[in-house]
Amino acid sequence: AKQNGRNGYCFFSQQLHDDLLRRHRLAERLRGALRNDEFVLHYQPQVAAHNARIESFEALLRWYPSQGDPISPAEFIPVAEQSNLIHRLGDWVIHEVCRQQAEWRDRGLGGRRIDINLSGKQITQLGVFRHIEECMMEHDLTTRDIGIELTENVLIQADSKVLEHLRRLYHEGMKIAIDDFGTGYSSLSYLKTFPITSIKIDSTFVRDAPTDPSDRAIMEATVFIGHRLGLEVVAEGVENRAQLELVREIGCDLVQGYHFFKPMAADEVAGLLRSHVDA
Ligand code: C2E
Ligand code: CA
Ligand code: CA
Ligand code: CA
Repeated sequence: AKQNGRNGYCFFSQQLHDDLLRRHRLAERLRGALRNDEFVLHYQPQVAAHNARIESFEALLRWYPSQGDPISPAEFIPVAEQSNLIHRLGDWVIHEVCRQQAEWRDRGLGGRRIDINLSGKQITQLGVFRHIEECMMEHDLTTRDIGIELTENVLIQADSKVLEHLRRLYHEGMKIAIDDFGTGYSSLSYLKTFPITSIKIDSTFVRDAPTDPSDRAIMEATVFIGHRLGLEVVAEGVENRAQLELVREIGCDLVQGYHFFKPMAADEVAGLLRSHVDA
C-alpha cells in the first residue's frame, strides 16, 4: 500500500509538471497563432423556445493551427488569460464580430444580435470597452447589434469602474448575459444589482433535468426569479427532445444547443440566414 501511495504521489507531480509544460508550450504557440491568423469565429444560433426562430448568435472562438489538430477554447482561453494574450485575442474577437455583423447587414442578412464572450482578465483592462465602442462606430453598428456574456465569477470580481462601463452599455440598450448561471459563486442578490438583461442556465443543469428532480427544481427556480426580475432566460446545451420539452414547459425564453444548431462557420450561417429571409 505504501508503495502505491508513493507511486500515486509521483504520478501526480509528474502530471502537474506535464501540465505546466503543456501550458507553456501552448502560450508560445498562441503568440504565433495570432500573427498567423489561425483563428476564426463560429456562430451558434439562439432560438426562441416556442417557435424555434433564430433570435441571435453567440460567437465562439476556434483555433485551427497551421500544423496539428484544432485546439478547444476551453483549453486555450485559460492559457491566453494567464499569459496576457487574452487582450489581443479578445480585441480580435470583438473586431471580427463587428465586421461580420456589418457584412451580413450589407448583404441583407442582418438584424440578429451577435453575443461576445468576455473573460475576467479581459475586462480588468478597461480598454476593452473603448474597443467595443470603436469597433461599433467603425462598422456603423448600434448596441442592439452586439451583446456580451460574462460569468457570475467575473461579475462578482468586477470593480466599480468595470460596473460603470457595463451600466452605460446596459442603459444604451445592450444585452448583457450572465453565462454558465448556477455554477459560480454569486448569490441571488447580485441579480438585482448587476446591469444584466439575461441569464444563461448552464448546460450541466439542462443535461440532467429531464431525469434529475434537483436539476429541474434549480431550473424552475431560475426561470421564476429571472422572469420576476424582468430578465430573459436562456437554456444552454439543449441536445435532445426531452430537454427541449422540459425547457419549454418551465418557460425558458431561448434555447441554444445541438438539438437545433451546432456552432457554424460564417458562410454556413449566411446560407441559413438567406433561407430564413426567404421563408
Ligand atoms: P460557453 O461560453 O459556455 O459556450 C458554450 C459552449 O457549449 C461552446 O463550447 C459550445 O460549442 C458548446 N455547446 C453548445 N451547444 C451545446 C450542446 O448542445 N451540447 C454540448 N455538449 N455543448 C454545446 P466551445 O465553443 O468549445 O467554448 C467553450 C468555452 O470557451 C465557452 O463556453 C467560453 O467560456 C470559452 N470561449 C469560447 N469562445 C470565446 C471567446 O471568443 N472569448 C472568450 N473569452 N471565451 C470564449
Ligand atoms: Ca458563453
Ligand atoms: Ca455558457
Ligand atoms: Ca462554459
